[in-house]
Formats: sequence, C-alpha cells, structure tokens
Amino acid sequence: MSKEGNSNIINRNYAKMPGSYLFAEIASRITEYLKFNPKSDIIRLGIGDVTRPLIPSVVLAMHKAVDEMSDNTTFKGYGPENGYEFLRNAISENDYKKHGVSVEPDEIFVSDGSKCDCANIIELFSDEVKIAVCDPVYPVYVDSNAMAGRAGDFDIKTGRWSKITYINCNEENGFLPSPEELKGEIPDAIYLCSPNNPTGTVIGYDELEKWVNLANKNGSIILFDGAYEAFISGDYPRSIFEIKGAEKCAVEFRSFSKTAGFTGVRCAYTVIPKSLTKNGMSLNSMWTRRQSTSFNGVPYITQKAALAVYSEEGQKEISENIKYYKENARIIREGLKDCGFTVYGGENAPYIWLKTPNSMSSWEFFQDLLDRTGVVGTPGSGFGPMGEGYFRLSAFGDVEKTKTAISRINSVYGIPK
Ligand SMILES: *Cc1c(COP(=O)(O)O)cnc(C)c1O
Repeated sequence: MSKEGNSNIINRNYAKMPGSYLFAEIASRITEYLKFNPKSDIIRLGIGDVTRPLIPSVVLAMHKAVDEMSDNTTFKGYGPENGYEFLRNAISENDYKKHGVSVEPDEIFVSDGSKCDCANIIELFSDEVKIAVCDPVYPVYVDSNAMAGRAGDFDIKTGRWSKITYINCNEENGFLPSPEELKGEIPDAIYLCSPNNPTGTVIGYDELEKWVNLANKNGSIILFDGAYEAFISGDYPRSIFEIKGAEKCAVEFRSFSKTAGFTGVRCAYTVIPKSLTKNGMSLNSMWTRRQSTSFNGVPYITQKAALAVYSEEGQKEISENIKYYKENARIIREGLKDCGFTVYGGENAPYIWLKTPNSMSSWEFFQDLLDRTGVVGTPGSGFGPMGEGYFRLSAFGDVEKTKTAISRINSVYGIPK
C-alpha cells in the first residue's frame, strides 16, 4: 500500500467543479434515441466546430513548409515563443492597421489556441482578482478561474459561483451585456465575447464604448474574445481596439479556428498592448515572461499556414467558407422565424439562439426536438442559468442537411399556413 502523504498535496478546487455534463448528456441522449430509432437520420446542429476543409492556399503553404523542414538549409527548430515575425507583421498589418487600428507586432502573441489563452491569462492576476462574466457564457472563462480557486463555491441550486459577478443577458436586454447589469459591482476583470458564443449576438460601438469607459474609470481590465470576428458583416466593432482608450484596459483574443477552419490545425493570437499596465507592471512584459517559461511556440508549418490566410487568394477562399456558414445561419434564422420562433443572433455569428416554444425547459426542448425531428442542438441552460428556456443551433453544418433540418422543424413546430 502506498502512503497518502501530506493531505494538502492536491488542488482541491478541482473537487468543487460541477461535472462537465452538457456534451456527455447530449451524447447519451442521442445513443438512447438511436436505440429506439436505429434508422433515424440524425442531423447535428449542436456542434461548435467547423466542417469545411482547409482552403487550398493554406494546404499549399503547409506542403511548402514541410519541404523546408526536410532540407538541412531551411530546417527550423524552436521558433520564437511569441510567434515568427512574418506572422506577427501580417496580423498587425491585415487585421489592424488596414482597418485604422494601431496594434504593433510586438503586442501580438501567436499561440496554439484562444481557449488556452483565455484560460491561461488568469496567471497574470492575483488570487484576489474579482471577475465578471456574462450569463450565458463560454464555460472556459468561469472554469479556469474556479480551478484556480478564484470563483469561491459553486451553488447547485443557483448554478453560480459565490465570488463571480454575473452580467445577466436576457430577453429584456436582447442578450447583450450591459454595464447596468453589474448592479454597482466593480469587477477587476471582465470577460466579453463578441460575436457571442452561445447567443450569436454582437456588441455595438456605443455599448462597447460604455464598457471601455467603465473599465478605464475603475481600473478594470476587459478580456475581449473575438473568436467569431470574421462573421461580422454589419457595422459593429471587430476589435475592441477600435474603441478609444481600449489600449489602456483591454486584452484581445483572436483565433484562426473559426475564421480559417483551424480548429484541428491550432493557431490563434492574443493582443496585449504595451500601454496596458496595472499596479506598475506591464501585462505585455508579464505575458512575454509567462509564454517564454510555459510555452515553446506554434509549429513553423502552422504559422506558414496562418500566413497564407492573409494572401489575396487565401482571403478570397476563406470568405467563401464564411459565406457558406453565414448562408446556413440565414437559413436557420429565417426558417425558425417563419415557424414563429423568437430568435437571436445568426446575422453576425454562426450561432442562432432561440426561445423554446411553449415555455419548455432547454432539456425538454432538446428531447422534443430530437424525438420529433431527429435534429440535435445544444440546450441553453448548459451555458448558465440565464440560458434556461433557450437553445443554440449552429451554422457549421452541411447546407443541404441544414435545409432538411429546418424543413423538419417547420413541419412539426411551424404555424399552419
Ligand atoms: C471556438 C472558440 C474559441 C477558439 O478556440 P481555439 O482554442 O482557438 O480553437 C475561443 N472562444 C470562443 C468563445 C469559441 O467559441
């Protein structure tokens, strides 16, 4: 028998984590359904993953980079922790300067994903940091803090952590975060995601300006997740740095995952302005220190692939893919509206957030939809208590299947004409 040892070896915050029940529960309900409906042709509109393959420009660039790696004159070993200059220059130029936003290459940190950056960024903050998140929310922001012991205790009844401030997003405010929902609390760090996962809504210029002003007035930091920026087609901020003063209070996360189908390739970046300082320390220098200690950079092949996204051909090709997904979103959104559903999102995001019919709970609707149409979506309650009574459909599927799903939904839930 081995000894238990010191009773304080383990990070006990993990014991407080509620099970990651959402996707496991969805999978088990599908299995159960298929047992009784083995011939059913299930359509999955629950996925938060892209389905279109890599664009030709990216594939070509990756092949070329592999050839370079196979030649002793062009072989690359470890690269710079923060990313190759060629990629940071391209990001600065194409994603920012071209749009009149000043972000320098040394404010850009290339990484293997926004999920890890969103989760790891909390290492820059103290144990006392007070955080605020939207409800409903992308769970990474909450869980990373909870695992670090900064969320307090989880209350199963309310579905909330004792030390986190929740910004309620609901029907009254159109599922858009408003500073008023802080109800006077002044958080140190505020997570915002726009276009939003799961609600598909997008924050406008005036609202984002309010958040930036509030952060600067109180010395708070905004952690801005722009993973779905490429889906914006209206007049909305794509970057928080379009807002004056954001360079003093904001960090921005961007990813090639949804933009260029890189969910399996893995490449993202985080912008930390040099003018962002707290308690006399530069967050840009701190993140440089953190990354050089805990991270060894993104593969050369991957960064060459990401660079190809910015070529003229690359831009044309990715915009075709985005257009494809946006058309799916339109089909879902308009189709649901025709059936009489109340819907949010889907115009500047690949997600459609719908109100369940007849006051069903999110899970009741999940089951009803599955049983009657074979369509799978994601229960809104899985993203927080405010998501109860709502449901997320994703536009990342195949267009023909999406059309079939909507016509099945229409024949079951549609208003008879
Ligand atoms: C998909 C997604 C990301 C991107 O994650 P990667 O790790 O870069 O693939 C970030 N934030 C949100 C809200 C997402 O849905």
